[in-house]
Amino acid sequence: MNPGLYAADIVPLRSEIDATEPLGAIMAPAPEGVRSAACFVLVPGEDPEDALGLLGQIRRHPDPAIYLKPVLLVRRGAEPLPEALTYGVDAIWDRDAEPARPGHDVEAELRAIGQRAGQLSPVHSGGDLDPTVRVLRFLAVRGGTFAPRQTVLHPAGWTYDRLEPLADSADGDVARLLMLLAERQLLEGEFVARTHSCSSCNCAFLNFQETCPRCTSADLLVQDWVHHFRCAYTGPMSDFEYEGRLVCPKCEHLLRHLGTDYDKPAIVYQCRECENEFHEADVVSACYQCGHSAPPDMQGERYYRRYTVTALGRNLAIYGVDETVGRVLSRSGRVLPFDSFRTLVAGEAARHERYRTEPGSALVLVNLVGLQGAYLELGERTGELLEQLLETVVSIMRTSDYIATPNNSLFAIVLTETGVDAAETAVERLEGGIAELLQGSLSDPPNVTFAIESITKDLDLDGTLDRMLGRHAA
Ligand SMILES: [Zn+2]
Ligand SMILES: [Zn+2]
Ligand SMILES: [Zn+2]
Repeated sequence: MNPGLYAADIVPLRSEIDATEPLGAIMAPAPEGVRSAACFVLVPGEDPEDALGLLGQIRRHPDPAIYLKPVLLVRRGAEPLPEALTYGVDAIWDRDAEPARPGHDVEAELRAIGQRAGQLSPVHSGGDLDPTVRVLRFLAVRGGTFAPRQTVLHPAGWTYDRLEPLADSADGDVARLLMLLAERQLLEGEFVARTHSCSSCNCAFLNFQETCPRCTSADLLVQDWVHHFRCAYTGPMSDFEYEGRLVCPKCEHLLRHLGTDYDKPAIVYQCRECENEFHEADVVSACYQCGHSAPPDMQGERYYRRYTVTALGRNLAIYGVDETVGRVLSRSGRVLPFDSFRTLVAGEAARHERYRTEPGSALVLVNLVGLQGAYLELGERTGELLEQLLETVVSIMRTSDYIATPNNSLFAIVLTETGVDAAETAVERLEGGIAELLQGSLSDPPNVTFAIESITKDLDLDGTLDRMLGRHAA
């Protein structure tokens, strides 16, 4: 191994990642065997919070080549590091203890992560924007079981360590994303703990307090209620206290033995605010983080589980949605490569220009927005749904018509010798068929939009597609 490799490892950490700059330019070179790793080098005096910020930016980047990257923290000196950083990275290399290179097992693990991560392409052309997808893919690439860890440093009281940087507060917390994935059979969970937490912010630090039912003050004096057997007098303990002993205010006898002379049948509360006296206080739990206050049974409840990716989850993580759509479409002999389709559209336009054939030909576009949700809901059965979808689309086509899929949520069809009016009728039929299919299969069906254009020399195919997809992005 090249001993000079680490000469440049003391790189000042930048507080921001410039999206256009490769990460390698910002971070130190990784050890020889694990080139694919991102390497944070912390030297004494450097702010570890900067490294933590950088870790979050890597993990929330939509490109799987970046967010799935193994991250190695290289440290020197014995300064304590924030928990979120030490548990958030994939491995730590303490250079004071091991000056030459990180342990063998560390290198092996980072290399394995790098190799698995390198095989994945984004689920969508815009990257993996959905944090649920990022969490699933991260778990699948890391492998093994992810258990929560109890800590007072996280408001929820539990944390999933390496997964935390994948979601920011806008995405909702990691525990919730994991529950969502488990509901869809993409993860398998094993019970670890059940917690009570704030129903408003999920903070587990709740203060349970007794309050006055009249004025809601928590400033209460709590005393035993005392019953003197001999004369049947009852009253708060303070009525009996006299010079360090208990004396009955009614019959003036000394109370000696609990159970023989007297008992304490209840507790009495006295409100210092409104002087209300009562036997049953209202219990409220108030959140330390956001102040939300509610009766305990109205607060939230959370289950923490240790999770493993299921075979179905691994399949989705590796192949993604587009890949599955692609596999289904490529099995169908009807779907043309998009380049051939483009040539064909140009040919139809030229033919129309030259011979002025009526009714000409029509271009029909069908865009399904949110197919990702279908995969998350149906898992492996998404393939069947897509096949049925393709069948439905193909059913409006004659043998002289053509279909291509410029991207995996968009169908483009040429209906030859078909005017716009006739195309509209066909689309209406198609619309009904698709709606019925999607609504029958999915609780949250993708939005479907249609466009019809007459194929003439003025038709701008790419512009039309852009508008169609632009409408989707808006
Ligand atoms: Zn008495
Ligand atoms: Zn009161
Ligand atoms: Zn709260």
